[in-house]
Amino acid sequence: TLRADGVGHAFGDEPVFSNVSLAVDPGEVLAIIGPSGAGKTTLLRFLGLFERPDEGSVVFDGADVWAVPEADRLSLRRRVGMVFQDAGLFEADVARNVEYGLRVRRPWGERLRDELAGLVGRNGTAEAVRESLELVGLADKADQDAASLSGGEAQRVSFARALAYDPDVLLLDEPTSDLDPRNTAVIEEAVRAARDRGIGVVVATHDMNQARRVADRVAVLLDGGVVEVGPVERVFETPDDERTRKFVAGEL
Ligand code: ATP
Repeated sequence: TLRADGVGHAFGDEPVFSNVSLAVDPGEVLAIIGPSGAGKTTLLRFLGLFERPDEGSVVFDGADVWAVPEADRLSLRRRVGMVFQDAGLFEADVARNVEYGLRVRRPWGERLRDELAGLVGRNGTAEAVRESLELVGLADKADQDAASLSGGEAQRVSFARALAYDPDVLLLDEPTSDLDPRNTAVIEEAVRAARDRGIGVVVATHDMNQARRVADRVAVLLDGGVVEVGPVERVFETPDDERTRKFVAGEL
């Protein structure tokens, strides 16, 4: 379980949010919805252990990640995959882009060799690459230059890269903004497949219909905090908070 506990942050003297508490369990999808600028990306960066929030703690399987030694934090960090809004592919073929994701997230040197050996023994690097490309429907493009992909395909490769690493938690920042319905459907299906593998998935999205389609639970981030967290149907049908009702009705 990955948990934010009373997390708050300000950029300079501009507070983004305060006292945010939420958690994602293995094998569930948590959507974070809220208007643009509410701080969804910022919150994901804290959950991804990229940055330390001003206030509160981030707890991963019982470990307060900013209280443990840095080496421990780095190993926790490697159990979280993040797909950014920008696919961030580099100039190489599709398979190399996915494989590279596998390598950079591992420690270098001897430990890298050991870990890669373990990985190869368990699954095989090439196998992990192929399997995750299959999951996003791009196995046939493995040898194609990433620069020649469409935006939607690039996002799917970025997703495959995060999956190939076999994370315990996967964080997705607006995974389908600007994507057409077909690419969106592929990504949403891959989210469900990741969940069914036991991965805890957090999806930040401004698309409430997407939250309804993929999430088990939803957290509503607006007005400087999480105003409501609960099962997706309950939050959308009978919100506890008036601001949630307005947001869901498109009035915010
Ligand atoms: P969107 O859906 O538009 O991406 P969001 O909910 O993800 O929005 P964030 O990107 O987390 O929102 O930004 C929240 C607020 O914090 C915004 O007002 C943004 O301008 C501000 N902000 C984010 N990062 C920084 C930074 N590094 N320095 C200063 N301000 C920042």
